Amino acid sequence: MFDLQSTSVVVTGGSKGIGRGIAAVFASAGANVAIAARSTAELDSVVAELDALGSGKVLGIQTDVTDPVACAELAASVVDAFGGIDVVCANAGIFPEAPLATMTPAQLAEVLDVNVKGNVFTVQACLDALIASGRGRVILTSSITGPITGFPGWSHYGASKAAQLGFMRTAAIELAPHGITVNAVLPGNIFTEGLADMGEDYIAGMTKAIPAGALGKPEDIGHLAAFLATVEAGYITGQAIAVDGGQVLPESPDALNT
Ligand code: NAP
Repeated sequence: MFDLQSTSVVVTGGSKGIGRGIAAVFASAGANVAIAARSTAELDSVVAELDALGSGKVLGIQTDVTDPVACAELAASVVDAFGGIDVVCANAGIFPEAPLATMTPAQLAEVLDVNVKGNVFTVQACLDALIASGRGRVILTSSITGPITGFPGWSHYGASKAAQLGFMRTAAIELAPHGITVNAVLPGNIFTEGLADMGEDYIAGMTKAIPAGALGKPEDIGHLAAFLATVEAGYITGQAIAVDGGQVLPESPDALNT
């Protein structure tokens, strides 16, 4: 059961944070893992780190997911190196702050380009290979922010993360006849490089709001992604699953003080 040995996996945004955690779980399970991001320096060091974890091959491919041509080149390189693609983790995303009153069109466009169009371009580029796999899996990294919660300064981000779920539901229907499932992981607050940039006050406030009493680890997301990627999870599709230590549950802060 739950065998991911030699499965071919693509993880966008795999050079840091949640993507690196997802890639590490797959690499430890013996999968062949390709990570994609823009900065080659970070890709190279994470490839070396992942290589030591399992028996599969590891590849780092410089890719900007906002560019459909680059996404097509990513898919072609992975097919070339691993013989196909079974699993796509469309995880690359950004979360710059922009209050609604001052948000510029460029700030809105950047977030939608990476978080929404980047997901669509990645999945489209890998589609032929996923169909050929016969058991393709698409796992989107969305968020609790947007689909379930909100946070001042991140309305554009929330919109982008909710949009991923709209994409997921129709893609799941279109791709089901090919044996492909499409699901989304909704992380709560996971301690990553990107989250560390939000500052200590943000992290302390969030920690207090989580029933589990701590931020999540990137591997917490990786474990769900790995399960959704298994043959055994083949009847689960179009689902959004929160991994958040219970963060969305309290009706008010008082619920945590009893
Ligand atoms: P992170 O630490 O900032 O890492 C982001 C990754 O995405 C990096 O590898 C980055 O590499 C890559 N990336 C960014 N823009 C890209 C682009 N245009 N093309 C290709 N790669 C790109 O972020 P994270 O916290 O791990 O977040 C990862 C995902 O989880 C995002 O979708 C985010 O919305 C979601 N999420 C995170 C949290 C959290 O608590 N951390 C919570 C909910 C959802 P380069 O910069 O080198 O390209």
